[in-house]
Amino acid sequence: MQLSLKTHSQTEMIDITGEVQRLIDASGVREGICMVYVPHTTAAVTINENADPSVPADMLMVLNQMVPWKAPYRHLEGNSPAHVKTALIGSSELVQVEGGRLVLGTWQGIFFCEFDGPRSRKVNITWMASTLPPPSQS
Ligand code: ZN
Repeated sequence: MQLSLKTHSQTEMIDITGEVQRLIDASGVREGICMVYVPHTTAAVTINENADPSVPADMLMVLNQMVPWKAPYRHLEGNSPAHVKTALIGSSELVQVEGGRLVLGTWQGIFFCEFDGPRSRKVNITWMASTLPPPSQS
């Protein structure tokens, strides 16, 4: 399955937890693993706090300080910082599914990370359903 996103800024973190859960709901998977994969070289995915919007804002501030937009980069397309940030954050996340729900901590959400927007983007969602019985609730 694939999510389509429209981003609105050069750098931006978008909470996609609800969309991913809706795809899991539609899949009927009860137990297993969900993979969230971003098929781009200038966008990424991460799991972090989605309760306080200051957290993604601070993460973007630090990433922008670590990887400045202006530097003697060699890549002619002019978006090397976006490639570097993508490599730092990563292209995929795995999330456990139990009882049909993504297993995330109280403060965790899944964020699509735009580093060279605004653009139209895709996020691939794949799952592996477990054939084993769910872990016992002991
Ligand atoms: Zn490039």
